[in-house]
Amino acid sequence: MRPFRYQHAPDIGSAVSALAEAPEAAYLAGGTNLVDLMKLEVEVPDLLVDVRQLTSDRIEAHPDFVRIGAAVTNSALAADPVIRRRFPVLSQAVLAGASGQLRNLATTGGNLLQRTRCPYFQDLNTPCNKREPGTGCSAREGFQRDHAVLGASEACIATHPSDMAVALAALDAVVNTEGPRGPRAIPLVDLHRLPGDEPERDTVLEHGELITSVDVPQLDFATNSRYRKARDRASFAFALVSVAAAVDTADGVVRDVRLALGGVAHKPWRATEAEAVLRGAEASVEGFRRAADAELAGARPLPGNEFKVPLARNMIVSVLSELSGVPR
Ligand SMILES: Cc1cc2nc3c(=O)[nH]c(=O)nc-3n(C[C@H](O)[C@H](O)[C@H](O)COP(=O)(O)OP(=O)(O)OC[C@H]3O[C@@H](n4cnc5c(N)ncnc54)[C@H](O)[C@@H]3O)c2cc1C
Repeated sequence: MRPFRYQHAPDIGSAVSALAEAPEAAYLAGGTNLVDLMKLEVEVPDLLVDVRQLTSDRIEAHPDFVRIGAAVTNSALAADPVIRRRFPVLSQAVLAGASGQLRNLATTGGNLLQRTRCPYFQDLNTPCNKREPGTGCSAREGFQRDHAVLGASEACIATHPSDMAVALAALDAVVNTEGPRGPRAIPLVDLHRLPGDEPERDTVLEHGELITSVDVPQLDFATNSRYRKARDRASFAFALVSVAAAVDTADGVVRDVRLALGGVAHKPWRATEAEAVLRGAEASVEGFRRAADAELAGARPLPGNEFKVPLARNMIVSVLSELSGVPR
């Protein structure tokens, strides 16, 4: 690991200023992703500003929304009674990730900003446009099992690894930040980017922009929500495909729905095409298939990840059927 300086900032403004003055500096939260990447020398910050004591570690329940402090650990979030009751999909998504020990350290802000698990990104010996722009994408001709089928570019086919972010995308969460140019409220679906020609940029955040909290707006039918994750082994594995869904049905008709996919793109994938097909349609296996097909019509799989398209389709149909009480 390269040498680096470590610093506590007395308040958020000082932390933001410290990063604004140091282009190679980074925030440190639980360190469960950043420190691993520093050991691999994929990330080489010269200064770490510890933000765990700066942002809130509380979950505040309001009638219209729940505010999750950026320092709330993944364990505390998953176990919180309000989250479990009002947004079961979020609790389930967090519990589907990592391990108990990791979740005890990992924070909400850090989870959203964890970096891709593409093996070529983590291997300094191979070209990777995300790690070193302009060097090429090794995954395009290499191991593609974990890679994107939606929204990828010639430059990058990496996927976003966070489970929590997929549930938050389905729930229309908003990310609150403090940055060099003041505060911002960013819809979670706009936080992460598609790779395009700049795969080195994972998010729309500016250097030094600090996530302070995440707001989840009240959604009454989110009590009827679920997260399902397909992966190569039962724990310590990232999603091949995941589905986060909340459904409101009445008299056999889908009145409203929220649907997002993980493991399929460079960002949590809000399934707006499928949602449009589902709203007002009959709650049936055929209808759910049509919706899944509408979403996946834009999929461009590679030989190594073609399986993700039927897997995603089947998982969407299965989760929507369960939430709607439709026998399969
Ligand atoms: C073996 C293993 C298995 C895992 N499995 C899964 C899994 O299945 N699903 C899953 O979702 N995750 C999984 N994870 C990832 C884990 O969830 C993340 O490492 C963790 O959530 C990151 O949180 P952290 O607080 O440790 O972030 P850190 O490592 O401290 O930081 C991560 C990034 O976020 C930035 N950052 C942190 N806080 C802020 C903030 N408030 N504002 C701005 N920037 C900030 C840091 O600068 C850094 O770039 C796994 C990790 C490991 C090691």
